[in-house]
Amino acid sequence: MTRDNNIHIKTPDEIILMREAGRVNNLALAAVRELLQPGVTTADLNAAAEEVLRKHGAYSPFKNYGHPPYPASVCVSINEELVHGIPGKRKLQEGDIVSVDCGTVLEGYVGDSAFTAGVGEISPLARKLIEVVEQALSVGIAMMRAGNKTGDISAAIQQFVEGSGFHVVREYTGHGVGRSMHEGPQVPNYGTPGTGVPLRPGMTIALEPMVLVGTHRTRVLPDRWTVVSADGSLTAHQEHSVAVTEGDPLVLTVP
Ligand code: MG
Ligand code: MG
Repeated sequence: MTRDNNIHIKTPDEIILMREAGRVNNLALAAVRELLQPGVTTADLNAAAEEVLRKHGAYSPFKNYGHPPYPASVCVSINEELVHGIPGKRKLQEGDIVSVDCGTVLEGYVGDSAFTAGVGEISPLARKLIEVVEQALSVGIAMMRAGNKTGDISAAIQQFVEGSGFHVVREYTGHGVGRSMHEGPQVPNYGTPGTGVPLRPGMTIALEPMVLVGTHRTRVLPDRWTVVSADGSLTAHQEHSVAVTEGDPLVLTVP
């Protein structure tokens, strides 16, 4: 498959550098998480992440990415917004659920991760959705073992999410990550066990389950970035960059 040509196996030294980028990325997201309360603007969240990145001599690969050029360092996606929400003047409100996706380039290597969290008291449905997306990521990571295939990861995520009564996105996928934010292989959040690309030690992949309450369908807003559920139902997104090793999967975007 041409789309999977761009796979780069990392050396142990490269994994160490990616672990460092992942650590800084986690620090940026932790700073954002501390700010989540009613009245804070999504631009404030972006500024907090940028401050951490700058302090560590890092920057976000999101800025100026794509067409039209993405204008910020993080994506902030609220409620029915699934991914790629652009930070701005919007204020967080009690009961919102907020997904924040951050990338870090440090010493030429990328860390990419995202979390979803509530603002103040959230509904039982929103709580369940966040639990499911967090567990879906764990279920996917557990499949990241040499000898498995990318389809095993995809199928495990899909089965877990659909078994929980929710839907997985079709148009957006996990992806290899390394010197570039998007490398091969693509890892969709749905698929068939035993298919796809065989996993090898040194592969580094950003897994990112995107879960929707009412439908798997999405649409893009006129800003040409923000992706929302087609039916306006709640959505959530969780992501870690993870290395395949000779043994257990190594999560890179953690403290
Ligand atoms: Mg991301
Ligand atoms: Mg990603």
